[in-house]
Amino acid sequence: MRGLVRLGLTGGIGSGKSTVARLLAELGAAVVDADAIARHLTAPNGPAIPLIAATFGPDFITSTGAMDREKMRALAYADITARQRLEAIIHPLVRHETQRQTLLAASQGHPCIVFDVPLLVESTTWREKLDWVLVVDCTPATQISRVMARNALTRDEVEKIIASQASRRHRLAAADAVIFNDRLSLVALAAEVDQVARHFGLSCQPSGLNQK
Ligand code: ADP
Repeated sequence: MRGLVRLGLTGGIGSGKSTVARLLAELGAAVVDADAIARHLTAPNGPAIPLIAATFGPDFITSTGAMDREKMRALAYADITARQRLEAIIHPLVRHETQRQTLLAASQGHPCIVFDVPLLVESTTWREKLDWVLVVDCTPATQISRVMARNALTRDEVEKIIASQASRRHRLAAADAVIFNDRLSLVALAAEVDQVARHFGLSCQPSGLNQK
C-alpha cells in the first residue's frame, strides 16, 4: 500500500462533507463511508446481529432481523457498560471491514482513500490511521438551512443534532486543511476540492483509473 494516501474527511451535519466525498471520488479517490459500514453491521441479518442477540438478548433484535436502534439507544444512554459492550462488538467489525475496503482500494490502484467519518474528531482511534484530516466547514446558520431543506427537520431538531456533535472550534483544531463551504456555488466547491487534492500531493486522476 506504499504511496496510498489516507485522507480523513469530516464536518458537521450539513457542512457539505458528503458532497466533497463525491467530488473526491470523481477525482479518483476510493471512499470508505464509516457510517454506512456501521449501519450495514446492524441492518437485517448484518454481521453484528448474532453477537448482539447473544449479548443483549433477542429483545434487542426487531422482527426484520435488525438491531432495535431505539431500544439499544435507550439502554446505552442509561447504562455505560452496555454501551461499552456494544462498542466492543461493533468496533472490531468496523475495523475489519475498513481494512478490507482499504486493501481493495489499493489493489484497484486508487492513489488515495478517503475515510468519510462524521465523528472523526470525537473518536480516539481514527486519527492514527490517517495521513491527513480534511474538515469541511460552514457557519451554523448555513448548516441549519441546508439540513432543514434536505431532511425536512425543524430548526430546533437541527440545532439539537449540531449540539450533540463536536464543536466547530474542536473540529477545526483537528484539521490539516479546511474547505470553507459557505456562500460557495457547487462549481466553486468543486474547484476548491480539486485544489486541496493537489495541495496534499494526491495524484488523483480523473476517474476511470483502471482504463488503459
Ligand atoms: P453533509 O454530508 O455534511 O451532511 P451534504 O454534502 O449532504 O452535507 O450537503 C448538505 C446539503 O447541502 C445537500 O443537499 C447538498 O447538496 C447541499 N450543498 C452542500 N454544499 C453546497 C454548495 N456549496 N452549494 C449548494 N448546495 C450545497
